[in-house]
Amino acid sequence: MSLGLYVHIPFCSAICNYCNFNRGLFDAAQKERYVPALRAEIARAGDGSAADTIYFGGGTPSLLEPAEVAAVIEACARGWALAPDAEITLEVNPETITRERLAGFRAAGVNRLSLGVQSFHDTELRRLGRLHSAARAEEAFQDARAEGFQNISLDLMMWLPQQTVADWLDSVEALTALGPDHASLYLLEIYPNAPLRDEMARARWSVAADEDAAEMYLSGLDRMDRAGYMQYEICNVARPGRASRHNLKYWTDGEWLGFGCGAHSTRGGVRWKNRSATDEYISAVASGGQTAIEYRRLEGEDRLEEALFMGLRLNAGLDVPALKSRYGVDVWDRHGGELQPFVEAGLLIYDGRSLRMTRPGMLLANEVMAVFIRSTVR
Ligand code: SF4
Repeated sequence: MSLGLYVHIPFCSAICNYCNFNRGLFDAAQKERYVPALRAEIARAGDGSAADTIYFGGGTPSLLEPAEVAAVIEACARGWALAPDAEITLEVNPETITRERLAGFRAAGVNRLSLGVQSFHDTELRRLGRLHSAARAEEAFQDARAEGFQNISLDLMMWLPQQTVADWLDSVEALTALGPDHASLYLLEIYPNAPLRDEMARARWSVAADEDAAEMYLSGLDRMDRAGYMQYEICNVARPGRASRHNLKYWTDGEWLGFGCGAHSTRGGVRWKNRSATDEYISAVASGGQTAIEYRRLEGEDRLEEALFMGLRLNAGLDVPALKSRYGVDVWDRHGGELQPFVEAGLLIYDGRSLRMTRPGMLLANEVMAVFIRSTVR
C-alpha cells in the first residue's frame, strides 16, 4: 500500500479556548525557519517509495504562503514516487484565505481543502474563540469552488456550550446547503485544563444533556444521509468516492510518515513521534540531529489491538478472516463472548465475516472497544 505523507504546520492566528493540538501563535520569523527545516527533514527521509497522499494539518496550514506550500510539495515529490493523482489536502481556516491565496494553493498542487467551519452560528463561534463568522465561512467555501476546488471537506462541531439540538441542526442544514464533498461532524470534548472550562463557569454556560448529545449525533447524521452523503467512519461522511484517502490510512492499518514538530509516523511496525516544541524541532533539523524522540515497536498484540481500534471506527468494520490471516487471531473466537451482549443490544453486527458497529453503537464506541483492552491486558 502506498504511503501517506503528513506535514504539520503549528501556527495559528489566535488560540481557540478548547484546543489542545500542538500549535502556537503565528510568528513570521519562526515560520521563516520552520519551512526550510520541514523541507530538509523531508529531503532526508525520501527513499523513492510510492506515496499517494500529502496532508497539511495543524495548527493552521493556510497561514503558509502558497509558494511555501509549493516548496514542501516539491520536496515530497522529489523524495517519493508521488502518484499522479495523489490526494493533496490543506487544512484551511476561513479567515486566512482570499481568492488569490486559494488560486496560489491550487497552483501549488493542493487538490483538496478541509475547511474548519465548526459552526454556522456567530454566537457559537465567538464562544469558541474562533476568528471567523458564519458568513465568512460560506464565502470561503464559495471562493474555493470558484477557484476550481472539486474536493472540499467542512468540519462542524456539536455539543457546544449553550447549543441546542435545533441550533446544531441549523448548522448541519447550512452545511448541506453548501454541498461540500466531505464533512466531519465531531463532538466537542473539553479537556480538563481548557480555558473554555473557566469561561463556561464564569459565563454560566453549560452543554446539553448526554441524551441531547446523542440526539445531535444521530439526527445530524440522519440529515447527512438524506442529503446524499455516506457515513464511512464514526465522524466522517462523504459523497461517493470522496472519503479521505489520507485519513483512511490511519483507520485501515496503513503506513504514513509525519514531518514537522510533534508529527507521528508509522512504518514497518514501528511508530515514532517528532519533538513537539517548534524551536527544538528546527534546531534538531539544523544540527543534523534526531527529530524523532519516541520510538515504539508495535509487536503482535499491540498491532492487533491498534488494528481493532482503528478498523472498528469504520462503517465497514473489521474483516475478521483478513485479520486472522494477518495476525493469526480470530477476533470473534477470542472476543465473541464479551461482544455478544453488544450484538444483542443492536450496537454491533457480526455476520460471520465483518464485525461492525451500528450508528447507535458508534455513540458507545469506547465501551465496545474497551472489550479489546480488557482482553489484551488479561
Ligand atoms: S485554529 Fe485549530 S489548531 Fe489553531 S488553536 Fe484553533 S482549534 Fe487549535
